[in-house]
Amino acid sequence: MEGLLLAALVVASNFEGGSVGKVEQVAANHLRCAVKGQADANHRNRQANWYFFRIDGLKREPVRIDFTELSGEYNFKPGSHAVTAGTRPVYSYDRKTWRHFADDQVTWDEAATVLTVRFRPEGDQVWIAHTQPYLREDLQRLLELRHPHLSVSTIARSAHGREVPLLTITDAAAGERDKRSIWVMARQHAWETGTSYVADGLVRFLLSNAEAARRLRRENVFQVIPIFDTDGVAEGAVRFNVNGYDNNRNWDTADAEKTPEIFAVRRALEQAGRIDLFLALHNTESADYVDGPADAVAAELVRGLRAGTDFLDAASPRAVTPRESIDPGRMTVNQYLYYQQKVRAYLMELRVERHPALGRPRTAADFSSFGAGLARSLAAAVSGTGGKP
Ligand SMILES: [Zn+2]
Repeated sequence: MEGLLLAALVVASNFEGGSVGKVEQVAANHLRCAVKGQADANHRNRQANWYFFRIDGLKREPVRIDFTELSGEYNFKPGSHAVTAGTRPVYSYDRKTWRHFADDQVTWDEAATVLTVRFRPEGDQVWIAHTQPYLREDLQRLLELRHPHLSVSTIARSAHGREVPLLTITDAAAGERDKRSIWVMARQHAWETGTSYVADGLVRFLLSNAEAARRLRRENVFQVIPIFDTDGVAEGAVRFNVNGYDNNRNWDTADAEKTPEIFAVRRALEQAGRIDLFLALHNTESADYVDGPADAVAAELVRGLRAGTDFLDAASPRAVTPRESIDPGRMTVNQYLYYQQKVRAYLMELRVERHPALGRPRTAADFSSFGAGLARSLAAAVSGTGGKP
């Protein structure tokens, strides 16, 4: 009996951001790990692309892990699955250095909808996740940066009572009168860790001593929300807040009880005064794009992104969805701000699967350096505006 216990691989997810579904040990070095997934308040739109767990008891022998229960639906269309043949999970032996599984370590069974990774462990314990985690402890390090041009406030309190921090970056000595106001919001969807790395990189660049950063601080006020769905990030959720509401729908129907995060941020935006440009950051598995009012500012933003980052899409900016084709309760933040508040608001998607120009998936470092280029592109895009679309 003792021998059997010693042979067991132990899977745990009882830590910040952790998530795994039912786990079966098929053989000594073979696990089947269901992906827990998350459905909305009406048990629809299940999305299964966040897993973050630790395996203990590894030996230096090849291990096989099958990821199962991947099917769900998206925008009420059943049968979709976010995890696909292109998915490359990440792993770490110390929770500091994360790497993607290589192409020859990953196989995909289309008929069974199962992703399998095979690897030879380099330690007796490994962490595995869909993308490199960005947790509240990572945000805390950002909040603790001491800089005279950074101030931190709380823009919302989550359904479970957690604070949603807002970082304001500007050179107060430069005077407020002609400054552009730029908002960047990340992580409405908890699984989209890359967006928090973009926001983190943007903030670190803006607070740097680079002459370009000093100038951007003099000319702009940057308002940055690195983690919008703080409950989802802490509790290992995928897409919906803890009450089952999508933080990037429901902006037209926000409610203090069901969607307290949207409700509070929406009110803060209504009271924010001038907003020259608002950008919501998202991740997809397989596409980059910018969506919003296709004016000269958008054109300049996309031009800057193409010149100064690894942004991919040739078709951006994509036109904002017409008002009349948005169903009640389905408004995204950028649609709401644009149609209801006449704010120039965009959504940007950045892919997590293999980036063709890089020849590999974007790493956390790639997302972080994207943030620096994004800061410059946003500022350049609004430098010629009078403040209204
Ligand atoms: Zn998203």
